[in-house]
Amino acid sequence: LRIVINNGTLIDPGNNVNAKLNLAVENGIVSEIAAHPLKGDVELDAEGLVVAPGFIDLHIHEGAYIPEEDRFDTTIFECLLRMGVTTAVGGNCGIGTEDPGQYLAAVNQHGLPINLGMLVPHETLRLQVDETNRYLPAPDNMISKMQELADIYLSAGCLGISFGIRYIPGISHKELLEISRVVKKHHGFIAAHLRDDADQVMAAAAEFIEIGKVLQIPVQVSHIGSMAGFGQMREFLDMMDHQAASGLDITADCYPYDAFSTFIGATTYDDGFIERYGIGYDAIEVAEGPYRGHRLTEALFHELRKSSPRVLTIAHVMKEPEITMAMKHPRVMAASDGLINDRQGHPRVAGTFPRMIGEYVRERKLMTLSQAIEKMTVMPARRLGIRKGTLETGADADLTVFNPHMIKDKATFRDPLAPPQGIKWTFINGRLALQDGELLVSNAGKGIRPVST
Ligand SMILES: [Zn+2]
Repeated sequence: LRIVINNGTLIDPGNNVNAKLNLAVENGIVSEIAAHPLKGDVELDAEGLVVAPGFIDLHIHEGAYIPEEDRFDTTIFECLLRMGVTTAVGGNCGIGTEDPGQYLAAVNQHGLPINLGMLVPHETLRLQVDETNRYLPAPDNMISKMQELADIYLSAGCLGISFGIRYIPGISHKELLEISRVVKKHHGFIAAHLRDDADQVMAAAAEFIEIGKVLQIPVQVSHIGSMAGFGQMREFLDMMDHQAASGLDITADCYPYDAFSTFIGATTYDDGFIERYGIGYDAIEVAEGPYRGHRLTEALFHELRKSSPRVLTIAHVMKEPEITMAMKHPRVMAASDGLINDRQGHPRVAGTFPRMIGEYVRERKLMTLSQAIEKMTVMPARRLGIRKGTLETGADADLTVFNPHMIKDKATFRDPLAPPQGIKWTFINGRLALQDGELLVSNAGKGIRPVST
């Protein structure tokens, strides 16, 4: 089957392309790109539309794989597909599936709505070696066991290792260093939710970056907006530039919102957060359960933290100009940090990518369309070390076709999974998976491996 897309504007920043070009898709790949209209079995007219590489979201929290039923919770993958995302990466912030190797194998067996890569989550390693006290450092024999496990998962196709230092405050320099060391042999990268944020963020960044410098491996600072978006962003971005100038491969990701989301039982809310963010309890919103939509009081905070630590919250605590400052920086890419708990969560899971274009490009003119697409395609692909994110002859046919005048996020804190508007077609591995918001194919996505393996 040969599908052609004629009359669109092809914007492919990785190949410096921004022109009226026609494109053909066959056997899962881009088979032809031409200035003249193409013939095919199916001919789509993209007049007035932009044809871009499918968006890549390198920071999500994957839906559960339920081994007993041999199926996935695909809610998040469907949300991502509706946003034009064709590839996402799970296992972030050090947390995630119990066995990322098994997860990838199941993805390849069943298919998913989108392509999926995995990081090795550090907390998973800890749990597997029975090191369950997050406030204590792991002893040396546990560290070597975790190294062995990380090696197995990286060999099974994981793209790197993620740490949630914030969530495992007991992690020592040695544990960070020795587990990260495994990444070097696999040519992967390390990502981290830093140990601390706000006025403590620079020291927390130094701890993580030191590992990248010692081992000479790439580092990815996760969701920089919720780490340094409290008045520290300028200093943080300057520090990244300085580190890059001295040879470190350092990048960061950010979601385009000034509120973060985490579980009420998380260490983020350990003593001192009110002072650290300079807020009141009412800056925190409950995102699910009987108190959904309520702002916290001190009493409700303590009650929920004790009775239901897995309840998701939204913390309206970052400074908006800090978020846009980050997003405009050339070392920062877009990523959703999408997380769904019982169909509730933060609108970033269903709005991030359309919002980059609708809000940041069209409405506020903070960047060009090509710059925004670069942050959503080739930049994350390079960080991940995968052959995706560009459109040339022979490339995987992961495409997103959208109307640049219409594309807009519709998800809100009240309705966090509301699908966006303005995305016409999304192709996954050459199959038309989404048309006008309707899911046509739900298993075209495959497990992603690094190029080197
Ligand atoms: Zn995180």
